Amino acid sequence: VFVVKDLTKVYHTGEVAVHALRGVDLDIREGEFLVLLGPSGSGKSTLLNILGGLDHATAGSVLFRGTELTAFKERELTLYRRENVGFVFQFYNLVPSLTARENVSLVTEIAVDPMRPEEALEMVGLGDRLDHFPAQLSGGEQQRVAIARAIAKRPEVLFCDEPTGALDSKTGVRVLEALVHVNTELGTTTAVITHNVAIGDIAHRVVHFADGRVARIDVNETRRSATEITW
Ligand code: ATP
Ligand code: MG
Repeated sequence: VFVVKDLTKVYHTGEVAVHALRGVDLDIREGEFLVLLGPSGSGKSTLLNILGGLDHATAGSVLFRGTELTAFKERELTLYRRENVGFVFQFYNLVPSLTARENVSLVTEIAVDPMRPEEALEMVGLGDRLDHFPAQLSGGEQQRVAIARAIAKRPEVLFCDEPTGALDSKTGVRVLEALVHVNTELGTTTAVITHNVAIGDIAHRVVHFADGRVARIDVNETRRSATEITW
């Protein structure tokens, strides 16, 4: 779905120029589950933000299904984000006064061909938590509501920036399994930044970042199937 070529990003803050990306080359394939690893400041979030249309590249090329993303104007980027991309962040940003179902409905009511909120919540193992408010859910469950909300519009790609960052490692694994399950069921191309150690098991490929570049890519031949997951 993405062909990234020589992607560069320089942030200018006052007198300081930070080279966040120094020539990234990367293909992301249709339906694949990609994990991004690397030290703090190595450019992982910067890359996801550019691919997701949240930030602009300084130089280089990003093709999304053959269309040059870096040439998009603000309006086209907004449409691209709305129609093609789902985001999950470290903090769930659920509306506290709305139930799980209603939080997901906020998206399904404006999407073109959405899933039913119930269907999206079932897919992340929360079919029995539809009418719970965020405060009545655990951190892992809240994050899974956020995932349901992100996938309910059936985005082509799903970007997750440290979705397990605020969770203990066991709860984090459950969240990652929910993402794998969605990837298997819907075929949503998924890229996840996570430090959770379970990633080796579940990703098709692990992309290692260092100093604004792709340092290494590990291919996982024996990726664990999400169909093994029982809630
Ligand atoms: P972490 O694991 O800590 O989240 P990261 O790999 O996601 O790190 P990025 O957030 O992509 O790293 O940041 C890469 C570099 O770009 C860092 O040196 C950071 O300080 C800088 N940077 C990121 N965003 C901005 C911004 N909006 N303005 C200025 N500099 C930025
Ligand atoms: Mg980051």
